[in-house]
Amino acid sequence: MQTGKINVQTENIFPIIKKFLYSDHEIFLRELISNAVDASQKLKTLSSLGKFKGELGDLTIQVYFDKDKKTLTISDKGIGMTAEEVEKYINQIAFSGAEEFVEKYKGKSEADANALIGHFGLGFYSSFMVAKEVEIHTKSYIDGSTAVKWVCDGSPEYSLTEIEKEARGTDIILHIAEDSEDFLEEHKLLDLLKKYCKFLPVSIQFGMEKTWEKVEGEKDKDGNDKTVEVEIPRIINNTKPLWTIKPSELKDEDYSKFYHELYPYTFDEPLFNIHLNVDYPFNLTGVLYFPKVKKNLEVQKDKIQLYCNQVFVTDSVEGIVPDFLTLLHGVLDSPDIPLNVSRSYLQSDSNVKKISSHITKKVADKLEEIFKNKREEFETKWDDIKVFIEYGMISEDKFYERAEKFCLLKNTEGKYFTLEDYKNKIKETQTDKDKKLVYLYTNNTEDQHSYIQLAKEKGYDVLVMDGVLDSHFINLMERKLENTSFVRVDAETADKLIKKDEEIPSKLNDAEREKLKPVFEKNIEKSRFTVVMESMSETDQPVMITQSEFMRRMKDMSALGGGMSYMGNMPDMYNLVVNTNHPLISKILNESDEEMQNNTVKQLTDLALLSQNLLKGEALTEFIKRSIQIID
Ligand code: ADP
Repeated sequence: MQTGKINVQTENIFPIIKKFLYSDHEIFLRELISNAVDASQKLKTLSSLGKFKGELGDLTIQVYFDKDKKTLTISDKGIGMTAEEVEKYINQIAFSGAEEFVEKYKGKSEADANALIGHFGLGFYSSFMVAKEVEIHTKSYIDGSTAVKWVCDGSPEYSLTEIEKEARGTDIILHIAEDSEDFLEEHKLLDLLKKYCKFLPVSIQFGMEKTWEKVEGEKDKDGNDKTVEVEIPRIINNTKPLWTIKPSELKDEDYSKFYHELYPYTFDEPLFNIHLNVDYPFNLTGVLYFPKVKKNLEVQKDKIQLYCNQVFVTDSVEGIVPDFLTLLHGVLDSPDIPLNVSRSYLQSDSNVKKISSHITKKVADKLEEIFKNKREEFETKWDDIKVFIEYGMISEDKFYERAEKFCLLKNTEGKYFTLEDYKNKIKETQTDKDKKLVYLYTNNTEDQHSYIQLAKEKGYDVLVMDGVLDSHFINLMERKLENTSFVRVDAETADKLIKKDEEIPSKLNDAEREKLKPVFEKNIEKSRFTVVMESMSETDQPVMITQSEFMRRMKDMSALGGGMSYMGNMPDMYNLVVNTNHPLISKILNESDEEMQNNTVKQLTDLALLSQNLLKGEALTEFIKRSIQIID
């Protein structure tokens, strides 16, 4: 037996490791299992190169625990290590990483130290976060090697002895510390294995599971096939996940199946998928899905899982991919993404940045391809994917440039247009007297139904802009498209939505208008409504409520907590527009019975309020009463 001291300057390295990685103790399991996977894959490679001539056999990695002995073992049949290799890799190389970390940690404040930890992968030594003693039993694949056992109790002393070990490979035995005994709980270990090992390329077995098996040729007393309960190895991973398979070998169903494997609690089908396969200037594979969008975007956000060679790194890619892509679901796998480093470190990593802009490009490519080749499918799914595309266009200039070609606008007839096509469609009819192109829109086809009708009667087209991001998108469009403005259908009376040169002459003269105005003013809340006299067509409504585009946007902005927050306390301001050409208005003007006059004004005003959904409470009750009296 040989004993020795790991070459250290720092006496108490392990307590520091333990304290440091406090929040993330569980990653020790990922580290040890990825070492076992590496050792197994190295052997496979050696075998395929003819450098290992023996039988590979079953390379399944086993994880087992013993509650009585308080041990957790990770056992592989990989390349193993000779005594010299243990000396070199475990005592020197692996340790120096851990030591470097501790050196840097010394004298730093807690906060600085936390920022530092992310830059170090502690690998094998992370086992000391949960173990008071660690044993390595290992036998190299090289013919004639003797097996060795390395033991270390967390002090810098270790022992290295020759042992009897039949099987090639390595067993890592952790003697779990008292404060970490939850790592001896089956359900906890199973959860961790499912989290970190779900797609590892070598089978991982964790205990046995029970199942029922048919007994050939035997029936039970009821004449059914006889079954017996049997135990089978519980394999916890899919070694060939979909993203590692060539797209040409995959069908749509495979993508859908994999989606549900990733998100077992999601029942919706994804809308599209994008299979990524990049090998220059960095390596990246993965599959991204456009999920069906729900009302609450936040819940669906940040669900992409990040892997490094099939080893799970994180399921939160916020800050790693552009924000709008965090709405997508799926998997990204890149050996160039540094494993076991902190989020802030990942975000500043230059590879990660390149990856992020590349993904943006790929997503745009795919969308453009579907748009070009399957326009109909693209349109049917537009309402669902629109939020991604708008978000991307708003937040990433590069994406905007690409998406300009396939971004669609939908009108109230349910027809879809590209930005270019739509512009050409409305150019003739919707250019105002200042040569500005006016896009009319509604954000609620039900509530604004009558306004939409009036606009259509004028020969205008109305867009449906009822998405969560549409008000931002409108702002973006106005900035990007020159000489263009967006006006909601209820912002003005139909005649004034798009200001043209021709004016409809008024049937009433100025004096008559002046006389009429106070009659309306006294019947409406003056602080919220401005009475405006307008000469519209006789067939237009006698009284209408509008809210100017400007006022409404100011309110919307303040509601979002913008700089104009004092506006938030202001009531909504509306116009009560009186159509001076309508016969009913002339009738009111000439009415000598004052009560009759007021009642008619009230009735018309209430109808206008009602069509904007503004008639509420006592006013509504009164309106109903008055209406019944009129019918009487
Ligand atoms: P890393 O895996 O990042 O190299 P580790 O500290 O996890 O760092 O491991 C150090 C080294 O110890 C590995 O590079 C490998 O050479 C050796 N090693 C660790 N675990 C095993 C194992 N199960 N089988 C063979 N070699 C191993």
